[in-house]
Amino acid sequence: TYVVAEPCVDVLDRACVEECPVECIYEGGRMAYIQPDECVDCGACEPVCPVEAIFYEDDLPAELGPYAEANVVFFATI
Ligand code: SF4
Repeated sequence: TYVVAEPCVDVLDRACVEECPVECIYEGGRMAYIQPDECVDCGACEPVCPVEAIFYEDDLPAELGPYAEANVVFFATI
């Protein structure tokens, strides 16, 4: 799955939401989140993000690691 990370916070550009073919990117508070069970790993969202906030889960820089969990937790709580 792909993951939205810290650069999205308070930016919420939404370009990724438009690009996602399965509409699995949701807005929540200060950033967007990718529903991990719905993401088909197409990668379309990654290059359109103006702040480069989207990463393939395994490619998340170490300091952004907690954001993989944050995406999962977000969908567990709604
Ligand atoms: Fe949507 Fe594809 Fe991005 Fe997954 S990788 S969130 S399916 S655009």
